[in-house]
Amino acid sequence: MKLLIVLLAVLVGIWLWKRGRRLSRQQEPSSSRARSRPRQAQIMMSCPVCGVHIPQSDAVQGQRNSYCSVAHRREAEGS
Ligand SMILES: [Zn+2]
Repeated sequence: MKLLIVLLAVLVGIWLWKRGRRLSRQQEPSSSRARSRPRQAQIMMSCPVCGVHIPQSDAVQGQRNSYCSVAHRREAEGS
């Protein structure tokens, strides 16, 4: 039982340490953050039905447009 408590404390410690590292990384200047980011920026587009903005990679491709969901593609294109 005592071992379990020690193990739990170690896991919590690791978790806190990782969380702290992630937080400090977010506070880095934007120039160094941009360097670590993938080269291609997400292209945002808006759904012609509801106007919500979605990354192009998540968009549902229709014949005339891209939509936020299959339901809205169906609504706009009827297929
Ligand atoms: Zn939509």
